[in-house]
Amino acid sequence: MTVLVLGDGLLRKRGPVARRPDEPILLIEAESFARRLPYHPHKLTVVFSAMRHFRDELRERGRTVRYYQAESFDEGLRRYFADHPRDELVAMRPASANGAERFDDLVTDHGGTIEFVENELFLCSPEEFDEWAGDREGYRHEEFYRFMRTKTGYLMDGDEPVGGEWNYDEENRETPDAEFSAPEPPAFPPDETTEAVAEWVEKSFDGGYDDPPCGGDWADPEPFRWPVTRAAALDALEAFCTDRLPAFGPYQDAMVEDEWGMYHALLSPALNIGLLHPTEVVERVIEAGEDDAVPLNSVEGFVRQVIGWREFVRHVYRREMPDLGEANQLDAEQDLPPAYWTGDTRMNCLHESVEGVRERGYAHHIQRLMVLSNFGLLYGVEPAQLNRWFHAGFVDAYHWVTTPNVVEMGLFGSGIFATKPYAASANYINKMSDYCSGCEYYHTKTTGEGACPFNALYWDFLDRNGDELRDNHRMGLVYSHLDNKDDSELNAIRERAETLRERARRGEL
Ligand code: FAD
Ligand code: SF4
Repeated sequence: MTVLVLGDGLLRKRGPVARRPDEPILLIEAESFARRLPYHPHKLTVVFSAMRHFRDELRERGRTVRYYQAESFDEGLRRYFADHPRDELVAMRPASANGAERFDDLVTDHGGTIEFVENELFLCSPEEFDEWAGDREGYRHEEFYRFMRTKTGYLMDGDEPVGGEWNYDEENRETPDAEFSAPEPPAFPPDETTEAVAEWVEKSFDGGYDDPPCGGDWADPEPFRWPVTRAAALDALEAFCTDRLPAFGPYQDAMVEDEWGMYHALLSPALNIGLLHPTEVVERVIEAGEDDAVPLNSVEGFVRQVIGWREFVRHVYRREMPDLGEANQLDAEQDLPPAYWTGDTRMNCLHESVEGVRERGYAHHIQRLMVLSNFGLLYGVEPAQLNRWFHAGFVDAYHWVTTPNVVEMGLFGSGIFATKPYAASANYINKMSDYCSGCEYYHTKTTGEGACPFNALYWDFLDRNGDELRDNHRMGLVYSHLDNKDDSELNAIRERAETLRERARRGEL
């Protein structure tokens, strides 16, 4: 019996690695897997370097670790079973759709067997979620979140939420003033192992994609900075609790030029590969919240993201694939504009958000939702294309987490859990950021040269999708504003939107 550990399941103290301390461990670095999309080099470096560190740490502790570097999982498993015929493998069930079935087929082809056990990267088991979901129609996050609070007992006072409210989002919408400056995000400079991986990634994958959509790539990122060891991930958690947690809540929805991390945790890359477990992260944050300097709205806001949203999207994905991956209820069919790859656009908000992805594989939540997805939604990008871009570009991206976030939350692909599209004009971006003051476009103008693209595209989006959205009771007010526009105004909006789409296609927005 051997424990197979996948690159996004590097748990040491849980799962089969911990439960079977006497069994050997198998890891396979599969190059072709990393070639399926034009992944950001920092994402590949995170995964491969973390795997090699995991191997070295376990070996130091006396575990037998068999490590194969192969062109593909198929080749790696063929070599493994040639060395260890008919071995029985045990592994955590992969979170990606069909992952278990694909491995099962490969292992069986090479004469072995594989047993999948629960994926302990999460707090809520499939059985618990399925029981909670019951025969509900659609999924409501707020209900699930309350279920999770009650189940875990986090921030609970008996049966009641600590402080009397379940959710303090109302207090989490502060906008930064001109003096705003967030603490410098922690950086974990590469050690020898990481440097070797980064060089290999650059050599093996640079230009190694035959057809990156729109001819883009992730050239010239900043120096690598992400945690790839357990110790560094724990340091990142401490840095968050000390430096940024107190203001996390109030500035959760804010965006500021040149402040790429704001007060966000920057922990998703480590959480999503198992360097940190959600339990320890949430418990450390709750403990930090015992300090009077840390307000409840920050702690609750963070806990909600981790025990609520992260678990919720994982299970919605598990239950709704494969349909969710292809969902496109608004029939959006535009190709992703080249600016998503090049960052070349005069739209300051889009430029800043894309540059963050190009430089370090990261944009914070509100940039992801209200700039990168919002623009895609209004412009009419085909959801599967934007999903691939997010999956390729972000250091924390895996199919189980991008698909519900991009296809459903960002682009309203199916309505399975979003009750309305997150569509917003420049008004929202101007309120929540300082981007508009440094932009060549006028956030107050809708049509005519120099008008902010978000505005015409916003009204055009509502106009084009009236059949699907008009009857949504949460959209009543915005449709009443649309209906107040006369024909000439509407025609000017439609024309402007078409001009903007043409320019975006040419990379001239
Ligand atoms: P913080 O803002 O500090 O939040 C704390 C933690 O909460 C995160 O680390 C994450 O683990 C969790 N979290 C918060 N919101 C979500 C959510 N909606 N889904 C899952 N986890 C959540 N998250 C990813 O981990 N990988 C992705 O590829 C990803 N793609 C996204 C794409 C879009 C369009 C949107 C709207 C959201 C996406 N998210 C993704 C969710 C969220 O934006 C990121 O988890 C967060 O920005 C990561 O940065 P952070 O650690 O600084 O998070
Ligand atoms: Fe973005 Fe429009 Fe504001 Fe420019 S004016 S930053 S394009 S919202």
